[in-house]
Amino acid sequence: MTMRGAEIAALLGPHVRGRVEAGASLAEFTWFRVGGPADCLLVPQDEDDLAAALAVLPVEVPVTVLGLASNTLVRDGGVPGLVIRLIRGFSQAQTFEDGTVTAGTGMADARFARVCADAGIGGFSFFRGIPGSLGGALRMNAGAHGGETKDNFVSARAVTRNGQIVTLTAAQMGFHYRHTDAPLDLIFTSVTFKGTPGVDPLVLKAQMDEVSTYRETHQPTKDRTGGSTFKNPDPPGTPNQRSAWKHVDAAGCRGLVIGDAIVSEKHCNFLINRGSATAADIERLGETVRARVRAVTGVDLDWEIKRIGRFAEGAEVSPFTDYA
Ligand SMILES: Cc1cc2nc3c(=O)[nH]c(=O)nc-3n(C[C@H](O)[C@H](O)[C@H](O)COP(=O)(O)OP(=O)(O)OC[C@H]3O[C@@H](n4cnc5c(N)ncnc54)[C@H](O)[C@@H]3O)c2cc1C
Repeated sequence: MTMRGAEIAALLGPHVRGRVEAGASLAEFTWFRVGGPADCLLVPQDEDDLAAALAVLPVEVPVTVLGLASNTLVRDGGVPGLVIRLIRGFSQAQTFEDGTVTAGTGMADARFARVCADAGIGGFSFFRGIPGSLGGALRMNAGAHGGETKDNFVSARAVTRNGQIVTLTAAQMGFHYRHTDAPLDLIFTSVTFKGTPGVDPLVLKAQMDEVSTYRETHQPTKDRTGGSTFKNPDPPGTPNQRSAWKHVDAAGCRGLVIGDAIVSEKHCNFLINRGSATAADIERLGETVRARVRAVTGVDLDWEIKRIGRFAEGAEVSPFTDYA
């Protein structure tokens, strides 16, 4: 039997120290600023709190973890089961002289880059340009400017669906282009990297400034967006790599509009909520782009953005369908 949000909240309440709320709104946490509520939201205080909640939660209740939701589209009908956000209690970092850094996965990537730069630890300046959390970076193997999350990775701690705390090596994480093979029900709680010690902080600051300037020039960083919508059809390093945006452009989709959602004129692999778009507008725009790219270039683009939750009634979206 499906548990309602209020029932999940009543069950978890006595076992957790953090915040539990049935029917909590999610839209304001997401970069797109769209989507329905969580059946139940949990903001645990720390790793033990998270583990305690998962240990008592019946296995049939679906669990979704969100970082800063910079790569996620929450559908209009809301998210079933328990949604977990790791923020305070998961946002501290510790640096060591040999270049080792351990950080909570609720820490923003950009802040992590600054912490490493202040400590003179190199290898993390690319994180300055990625607007997610370290948890999202681990799940997505986030990367930019020639760097990827996997590069200096040592290990990660995670909580399993039944509340066990485990540690994963790089081999167990199985990093690929914008993807990890680690079981989907693992919630990463902290990560350890080993960077290059003894780098002049001013050099690292200059690298971060370069990343910021590049971003502001080439991407709609101030808009309501989810970053790169589609994965590049060829992984990095492929000779004559075909970027997703080139296919979108070839199919004539730059500036395409559905409802209040638009394909960015500045970077056409970005979809933007101009203000009052629904999640369905955004997803229909993405499927329309996929349909047109398939028709024009013969390539099937895969979504990089995670789409989660239920469609609103009567607002379902079908793959590879032209809605324009
Ligand atoms: C303007 C803009 C620019 C961007 N540029 C880049 C870029 O250059 N390179 C790049 O790689 N990405 C980029 N992105 C996409 C996004 O920022 C990254 O994918 C980021 O790593 C997502 O982190 P998040 O915390 O926002 O994850 P979310 O969107 O919250 O979640 C993404 C996925 O990670 C999972 N997840 C989140 N936290 C955890 C956790 N603790 N444990 C387990 N799973 C978890 C979620 O369940 C979901 O499946 C960009 C996005 C925007 C809006």
